[in-house]
Amino acid sequence: ENYAKIMGIHFPKLTLDRSVGIVSSIIEQKKTELFHVVTVNPEITMACQTDSRLRSIVEEAGLITADGIGIVMVSRLKGSNLPERVTGYDMLLRLLEAGNQKKWSFYFLGADPVTSEKAYEAISKTYPNVLISGRHHGFFTQDEEAGLVEEIHAAKPDVLIVALGAPYAERWIHKYKLKLNARIAIGVGGSLDVIAG
Ligand code: UDP
Repeated sequence: ENYAKIMGIHFPKLTLDRSVGIVSSIIEQKKTELFHVVTVNPEITMACQTDSRLRSIVEEAGLITADGIGIVMVSRLKGSNLPERVTGYDMLLRLLEAGNQKKWSFYFLGADPVTSEKAYEAISKTYPNVLISGRHHGFFTQDEEAGLVEEIHAAKPDVLIVALGAPYAERWIHKYKLKLNARIAIGVGGSLDVIAG
């Protein structure tokens, strides 16, 4: 089996390396359809038990990873070993490294305005060849949302990083999947706070 089924969710048995490889080749293929990556943490796993809408968002994703040591441990007990935990933060750092070599463009959505600015500064310093096609803090109103989606559409990023917290980010990406004009989108929780220091 290539999958481990844990709490009703089918996790492919992929290492961080393989997951990054899959996402990288999707970006390089330059398809127009958005590829949604969901790093399934304990919050998402629990919410999926009672929220069938969220469950279908996770099931529809192009790639899901096991972002919880508990999920990995349970897979081992069941004899359907997941190789390792793959977090949104790890994925983000690896995508920035790859993007720095391949000159991908990124749009950063989420975190508070100061964190967004600081993360932007840290990322442009560490990954100077990454194209930052835009960013926006994550405390926008309903009224501002359509304009924000248009801004992302116009920025046309290879990678849309959504740091709104889980599962808000996953719902948001899914809601605007057809309008974002990004190659891949991934929710990364509080990663921008970590990068901002
Ligand atoms: N956040 C946001 N908008 C909101 C709520 C949260 O941009 O309306 C940001 C928050 O500033 C933080 C991230 O989302 O940067 C959530 O991080 P958290 O660690 O709570 O999420 P998790 O890692 O648990 O998904």
